[in-house]
Amino acid sequence: MFSITKVWTEEKIRFIIHKLDEKTGLSGADLPIAFKAYGNTLGNYQYVEPKAFGFNRKFFNASSTNEAEVIDVIRHEYAHYYCDVAHLAHYIGHSARETSHGDDWKWACKMVGADPTRCHNASIFSNKNWSEKEAAAVYNAEDVKAFNILSYLKTWDQVPMDSDSATRVLTRIKESTPNSYFEDGDEIVHPKRGFGIVIETIPCKYRTQKVQVLFEDLTDGVFRANELCKIVDGVAKACR
Ligand SMILES: [Zn+2]
Repeated sequence: MFSITKVWTEEKIRFIIHKLDEKTGLSGADLPIAFKAYGNTLGNYQYVEPKAFGFNRKFFNASSTNEAEVIDVIRHEYAHYYCDVAHLAHYIGHSARETSHGDDWKWACKMVGADPTRCHNASIFSNKNWSEKEAAAVYNAEDVKAFNILSYLKTWDQVPMDSDSATRVLTRIKESTPNSYFEDGDEIVHPKRGFGIVIETIPCKYRTQKVQVLFEDLTDGVFRANELCKIVDGVAKACR
């Protein structure tokens, strides 16, 4: 198996975290990293101040541990960090029974390319046989899609829907109420703020969309579709 590093150091771990930061817009690499000999814990993320990552030096540098495993442990802990700083439990939910590996954490795992199972499972990784190119891609988080979670939450106050639900919601609106279906560039009227242009939309729960609008006075805002009237062929359609 191809290997980029034989010996893991705090610096190399920080590099992996920094590459994830570049994709998520977060700042995990600014946190302290304790790299020491824990017992059976492979890694941990400390939620309380001072927030920090901890990794098991013995496990990381054992000859039986491959790099794919190490990177997955780093991403697993990074997903905990991601949940924490983005307050994902608030947006996705998290029952007390789930401890720290609930739906919010699983969602974060998907976003950062970590295996979303609570306990590290070496068998998933034992037959990973990376080429030099593949290994470099994972080191550089090239397999992780760029998505700025904080800016998305700030604009939309929700996480994106999964693509199947999104398609279902949008198809349904287009078919049943085309005058309430919004796309980028649509012209609209808001009862209080007047005329505007749709900049961006996202599907959301209850079979509707959230719509970001740029108004003539160059202010913008995000609204539920039913707060807006779409202008079709020069005529403002009644809001639903
Ligand atoms: Zn965990």
